[in-house]
Amino acid sequence: MKLSKTSKLDGIKSWSLQAIDTCPGSLDNNGNLVPACSGCYATTGMYNFPNVKAPRVFNKEDWKRPEWVSDMVNALKREKYFRWFDSGDMYALELAKKIREVMEKTPNVKHWLPTRMAKFNKFQNIIAEMKALPNVAVRFSSDSIDGQFTKGVHGSTIVNGDNIPEGVKVCEAYNHDGKCNGCRACYDKEVNVIAYPAHGKKMLKVIKLNVVQ
Ligand code: SF4
Repeated sequence: MKLSKTSKLDGIKSWSLQAIDTCPGSLDNNGNLVPACSGCYATTGMYNFPNVKAPRVFNKEDWKRPEWVSDMVNALKREKYFRWFDSGDMYALELAKKIREVMEKTPNVKHWLPTRMAKFNKFQNIIAEMKALPNVAVRFSSDSIDGQFTKGVHGSTIVNGDNIPEGVKVCEAYNHDGKCNGCRACYDKEVNVIAYPAHGKKMLKVIKLNVVQ
């Protein structure tokens, strides 16, 4: 399997897939990208570089190997934190089951898994099983880019400007050169909702378009 490190995450490792291609939850009922995914950072810039794309394409086949779970558990032995899906989503139920097994077998690792698969009924049980694990924070991402979310359902939303809803933890990476800088709120299941300020040129364009409409 191929793990990646993004500079934002203080060197914390992640396992990712290609964005959109593996994100059935990114589409609304009419087949259009929801606002949050229209500005997806993982479809632009450095995510288009072959060396960034290649491991994501590789991982899409690799997880199907019978040894994948034990290989992941071994790879996470010395880690304290792990981020699933810096890009992409757990598009297949069999993949979700394997991820749950990795989580269960690595109780000393705090896992953060953002997803939109909670939109689909067949994923409800496996997501509930993940959430029941003490070391796992599953964050069902809101589709909104203006801070809307459903309490008790969503674990994250995107905010724009001063439009900060009550009761959320605002990600302050933008105050630290775009890095987490020691913050681990996303991995903390006691933190109910994280609000990410919109970032990236593409997202800013979406917001502009939305404002104009
Ligand atoms: S809330 Fe904290 S852990 Fe999450 S992305 Fe922002 S800085 Fe990193």
